[in-house]
Amino acid sequence: MPEVKRTSAGLPGASLGRVVIVGSGPTGLGAAYRLKELGHTDFAVYERHPYIGGLSHSFLDDQGFTWDIGGHVMFSHYKYYDEVFERLMGKEFTLNNRESWVRMFDRWVPYPFQNNIRYLPAQECYECLSGLIKAQAVKDGHKAARNFGEFIDAIFGEGIARHFMRPYNFKVWAHPPEMMNKHWIGERVAVIDVDRALKNVVLQRDDFGWGPNNQFKFPLKGGTGEFYRRFGPVLEGHVRLNTAIREIDVDARVATFSDGTVEKFDRLVSTVPLDLLCTRILKGNVPDEIRMAAAGLKHSGGHMVGIGIKRPCPSTKSWMYYPEANCPFYRVTYLSNYSPFMTPDKDKYYSLLCETSVSEFKPVNAATIVEETVEGLINSGMISREETRDIVSKWHYYADYAYPTPTVDRDQILEQVIPWLESRGISSRGRFGMWKYEVANTDHTLMQGVEWASKQMLGEPETTIGMSYRVTDDGRNNAVVTSERPTVAGSGEKRLLNKG
Ligand SMILES: Cc1cc2nc3c(=O)[nH]c(=O)nc-3n(C[C@H](O)[C@H](O)[C@H](O)COP(=O)(O)OP(=O)(O)OC[C@H]3O[C@@H](n4cnc5c(N)ncnc54)[C@H](O)[C@@H]3O)c2cc1C
Repeated sequence: MPEVKRTSAGLPGASLGRVVIVGSGPTGLGAAYRLKELGHTDFAVYERHPYIGGLSHSFLDDQGFTWDIGGHVMFSHYKYYDEVFERLMGKEFTLNNRESWVRMFDRWVPYPFQNNIRYLPAQECYECLSGLIKAQAVKDGHKAARNFGEFIDAIFGEGIARHFMRPYNFKVWAHPPEMMNKHWIGERVAVIDVDRALKNVVLQRDDFGWGPNNQFKFPLKGGTGEFYRRFGPVLEGHVRLNTAIREIDVDARVATFSDGTVEKFDRLVSTVPLDLLCTRILKGNVPDEIRMAAAGLKHSGGHMVGIGIKRPCPSTKSWMYYPEANCPFYRVTYLSNYSPFMTPDKDKYYSLLCETSVSEFKPVNAATIVEETVEGLINSGMISREETRDIVSKWHYYADYAYPTPTVDRDQILEQVIPWLESRGISSRGRFGMWKYEVANTDHTLMQGVEWASKQMLGEPETTIGMSYRVTDDGRNNAVVTSERPTVAGSGEKRLLNKG
């Protein structure tokens, strides 16, 4: 950890006091790392699991396959994040071309979808193109859209909406698009290059979204989680595993943990899902409106199914999207293509990581999802029935909180709840602490923690969360939404509406 030059005495951090960090995912680790880097050591990280990393942890199964909790692709938007990665990982990473495809109509359509609709059957190709032209002929049509569903129709038109965007997004989000806002998508997809889409069809041109400028790093050994595991030694003595937070007394500013530990804190960073924090953990004088507002946040869970196969990898693809109903998953990753150390032997084995979402709108049977996934791989042409004989590993992980749903009322809820918590010394940050999908990738979340610490210690603004706090004349903290979408939002790839 490099030494940080402090410019003056009397920095804001001088009076920070005891800091309690709940959760050792990227957000908690980022906050802890930055506090230590800035010379503040009066903090502790509490983690309910026996390991650190949160949703970015990786698991080694008994057959020697390494699995992530869903395909994790690192597209950093931050110099600081890159520097930490370099410091902890050195040269121990691979550099991979992002090669993504959409599987539909028994064929592969290169990503981005709208630039490659020539790969579709002629009738569907016509429908997609015709709908796109009609939709884009309406100037600023998307501005009137009240939700994500209307946004899809306004931007992509009837054909792409019906064949890809609507079915695919329901499979990913497990919520009707009409329940979701349109802000998380960003302005970048608002104008589709119709001429380019048309030209590619008429001139039969390929227009792939990958190449030398679209690469991503991946830890050489140990999966995504290896990067986060390496924060452990740096934070030695500060992290307490197997210790869940049970209660926070908001009046006394006291936190109670599952092992009986009681901590009086000056500041508390929570990366616990915000709805659970407000409805189950906060005690004391908590207004009903705060609890009820937080309870209105929506999320989806996810079944991650890893299939290890004793065969050489048949493909160079990175990951694929599945809009059709012939398989339960929305995305599959050739995880073994990310590093030669993800299977017991790179020449003999390969691995597929399949993600299926679940919610009250989209139930999934946990007892049968692994077998349904195998059937889905057969139905979608990923493996043959004969190949199932060579399956040597079936790994299953269920994340009850996988994707924070950006519902139409989400920002209103956050504007109410987050500042109230701030006024009680509690900063809720991270993928489910802040609930902003648009800034919920690993780089964003690590930096949410880092920026929180920098704000406390150096008075620097938190730019990633896109929300700042103004203390009003009567002493209340007021949320000011600085932008609909922070400048650092987005995956860094030239993406459509898919998840990175
Ligand atoms: C399916 C999927 C795919 C993803 N793909 C990508 C990708 O391609 N690229 C990318 O950059 N990011 C990706 N992500 C996002 C990435 O995993 C998150 O950005 C990151 O893990 C969030 O960090 P966090 O610290 O905010 O939350 P988490 O990782 O959820 O960590 C929160 C921590 O808090 C702990 N905790 C919760 N409750 C308590 C309690 N009561 N007491 C104590 N501890 C508690 C949890 O155990 C956990 O360790 C993906 C995530 C998922 C689910």
